[in-house]
Amino acid sequence: MSDILQNYINGGWCDSASGQTFVNENPARRGSVLNRAQASTAEDVEAAIGAAATAFKPWSRTPVSERQAVVARFLDALATAREELARIVSLENGKTIGEARGEVDSALLEGRHHLQQISVFAGESAPRAEGSITAWEQLHALGVIGVISPWNYPMNVMCRKTLPALLTGNTVVFKPASFTPWSAVFMAGLFEKAGLPAGVFNCVSGLGSTLGNKLIKHPRVRAISFTGSTEVGRKIQLLAAEDFTRTQLELGGKSALIVLADADLDAAVEATVKAGFGCSGQWCTSTSRVLLAAEIAEAYTAKLLARCQAMKVGDPLDAATSMGPVAGPTQFDGISAAIAKAKAQGARLRFGGVSDNAEGYYILPTVFDGVTRDMAIFHEEIFGPVLALSTVRDLDEALTWANDALYGLSSAIFTKDLASAMRYVREIEAGMAHVNIHSGFKTPELPFGGWKESGFGLPENGKTGLEFFVERKAVYVG
Ligand code: NAP
Ligand code: MG
Repeated sequence: MSDILQNYINGGWCDSASGQTFVNENPARRGSVLNRAQASTAEDVEAAIGAAATAFKPWSRTPVSERQAVVARFLDALATAREELARIVSLENGKTIGEARGEVDSALLEGRHHLQQISVFAGESAPRAEGSITAWEQLHALGVIGVISPWNYPMNVMCRKTLPALLTGNTVVFKPASFTPWSAVFMAGLFEKAGLPAGVFNCVSGLGSTLGNKLIKHPRVRAISFTGSTEVGRKIQLLAAEDFTRTQLELGGKSALIVLADADLDAAVEATVKAGFGCSGQWCTSTSRVLLAAEIAEAYTAKLLARCQAMKVGDPLDAATSMGPVAGPTQFDGISAAIAKAKAQGARLRFGGVSDNAEGYYILPTVFDGVTRDMAIFHEEIFGPVLALSTVRDLDEALTWANDALYGLSSAIFTKDLASAMRYVREIEAGMAHVNIHSGFKTPELPFGGWKESGFGLPENGKTGLEFFVERKAVYVG
């Protein structure tokens, strides 16, 4: 792979019209240059949309079986490239190599789900006779889709959006996050290898603030599938609404994990560590608030602190590392500021904080307790390895506190009591509820999406992963 990453437009590799590039830094080595990516302009986005628009008609008329064959070849190439790609993800994102392998595996699992689902989905509508009229429902691809993805799951999220878009006959212009352009360009190479026709998939790197408006407001772009912050999601929704452009927004979170007095504390602590510190707390479904029944708060906290002590923070490519750096300088600054604010507002730091290791953007697994509902750490998404522990009286109070959030992405409870578990499942205001499982667990057969300010539009995966990308037509033949 060359040191300059190029855009992939109309089946060819090209530089940006700007002639400018930006640095892709390895977050484990401040100031390092992994490679450089194109600092694209609206002109490049225009070219990519033009290519995708031209490619749309032939691609949407390609039989589903042929589209499936291309996606199957893409998934084979992805499986073959697993190790190489995991290394790229780890290098540019900072997640451990094990976590990066897990990301590729997750993309494969979801991709195979969509590959199978499309057969059922596309063949679902049976004609029916109504008197002298025959009627049926017909699916149509939308057209050009804009895909905007974050850096935390740089290849998995783009696959979760792009493969259903392509399988349903749409064409795609993809803008990756600026922290992680390398895995995006690598994925474009896999599409090329799989023999996807020119223009069906296009990848344009560059700043979201520069390219976003062009992609969202372009009359040929029929839908935007976005994953990222609630702040940017809101901007996209406001712009898209003016033109009735369809949106699918997967946004931020502040997921709570409830631990009741009868819980298996070891299991609850393991789930907290997994979902609180996995990918350095940078899952959208990360556990960030822990609501502890007063009876077990002390015992749970002692076990959690012992687990934090045993964690090794450092080089993500070292197999012994349990947590790598956060993804880059803006992440590091934001998390550091949130830690300082939590201290200033009276939360008690029990473990961690900013690491002394200044080689990379390292934050230690961080635990605050004594967190109350008036503190920023209770409400604001930090998107880092920072846990806010609060003590609650009972399930009633736990649910009130858990639901006291603008966000509603994921959640979890640890309890052995069926009635408590079922009440939590009924009352939690979130797109995902987990009983005795960590808050990041998911399977592709079920929807992946958030409630409240955590999401908008149809969820990804599940039954709606494909639905988002089609228009339905009622046909009556007399
Ligand atoms: P972000 O700042 O919102 O960026 C996400 C993407 O949007 C990036 O590609 C970014 O480009 C682009 N962007 C920025 N400004 C834009 C604009 N004005 N118009 C159009 N696009 C724009 O989020 P992030 O920091 O990368 O990711 C972290 C956030 O994503 C967290 O809030 C996390 O919870 C959320 N997330 C949610 C899910 C989910 O499924 N719900 C999954 C993963 C992450 P640049 O990189 O060039 O700025
Ligand atoms: Mg990077």
